[in-house]
Amino acid sequence: MVSTFPNNISTDLSGVRLDIRSLHPQIIEWRRLIHQKPELGFKEELTSKFISQKLEKWGIEHQTGIAKTGIVASIKGSKQPQSNQNNRVLAIRADIDALPIQELNEVSYCSQHEGIMHACGHDGHTAIALGTAKYLQQHRDIFSGTVKIIFQPAEEGPGGAKPMIEAGVLKNPNVDAIIGLHLWNNLPLGTVGVRGGALMAAVESFRCTILGKGGHGAMPHQTVDSVVVAAQVVNALQTIVSRNVNPIDSAVVTVGELHAGTKGNVIADTARMSGTVRYFNPNFKGFIQQRVEKIIAGICESHGANYDLDYWSLYPATINDVHMAELVRSVAEEVVETPLGIVPECQTMGGEDMSYFLQEVPGCYFFLGSANPQKDLAYPHHHPRFNFDETALAMGVEIFVRCVEKFLNS
Ligand SMILES: [Zn+2]
Ligand SMILES: [Zn+2]
Repeated sequence: MVSTFPNNISTDLSGVRLDIRSLHPQIIEWRRLIHQKPELGFKEELTSKFISQKLEKWGIEHQTGIAKTGIVASIKGSKQPQSNQNNRVLAIRADIDALPIQELNEVSYCSQHEGIMHACGHDGHTAIALGTAKYLQQHRDIFSGTVKIIFQPAEEGPGGAKPMIEAGVLKNPNVDAIIGLHLWNNLPLGTVGVRGGALMAAVESFRCTILGKGGHGAMPHQTVDSVVVAAQVVNALQTIVSRNVNPIDSAVVTVGELHAGTKGNVIADTARMSGTVRYFNPNFKGFIQQRVEKIIAGICESHGANYDLDYWSLYPATINDVHMAELVRSVAEEVVETPLGIVPECQTMGGEDMSYFLQEVPGCYFFLGSANPQKDLAYPHHHPRFNFDETALAMGVEIFVRCVEKFLNS
């Protein structure tokens, strides 16, 4: 991915209004403060307190402690609506959690929490949402209707979106549409990845134990060899994507873990494997699971082995509304005017619990290019040296604010 980046990354902020450019140093400062105190999912107490203190200071009405550490803020526009239709509500979602990774960056604002790091950029998402909140509160005359800003815990797992929705964050007043972004080191700074339809994949997981019968490595006829059975299972699972899924659709079945045996001359009685399944097409829900189970059952049956299978869903696919995606695209192209600009080929089989919000209301999740190899800021997400170009923070605020103006005023 990195090798395809252009030689000249644009740090041009001419598409960002002056007021947001002057807010930029503060946004960077908040991001760095949050970066120094990373917290895992549902334990984002300091982060939550930091957000709440800022909102309080700016006089923004908000509710804390939603789904443990989540916050929802509301800002009402003062612009006279052109019609009743203009009294709408747009939500902006930011995730606030970090990962169990020991940071290896040598920066002044390095993580101070042993073994925990903002290695996905959620510190940046939080700072962008705060910058947007501050700007909108100071410029309420530029929009009518209401902006709700949702600070969501635990995106990296077990997932804070669902409990926040259950707690009613999309109600009272009812949210008409939602937007959110992910800083994205798979794209260079100065680009935006946005598309209608599926952006990120549904995520499912499984764990399987093959129960054979152990014995002497020289006397296989007295055993049921779990290694031979497991090897066939791993191979046969590959046929789900190659033979059962329509080639026009995309799916992944990965067995990432396989353990069996203790010694070369001992036949192992059990083999354990675990894997992940990804797909975009919601019709695959249940279908791939059924194929996994049938393949395991059939192969075990033919060898006289038994099995235990656990299969569960994590997040559904992240699917953008075409109209909201077009709205984001149209404002983003005014903000990132580089030769690369808008990148519609940005789908990934990664997962996101923004998907739950998008199942409830039309919306758009998009990627904000944040890699800059010239500054050594191009490590992948979840890497101990992950970091991004903070120029993107101002672009993120500008895109959110333009979405607010375009959605709520038109
Ligand atoms: Zn992540
Ligand atoms: Zn993330």
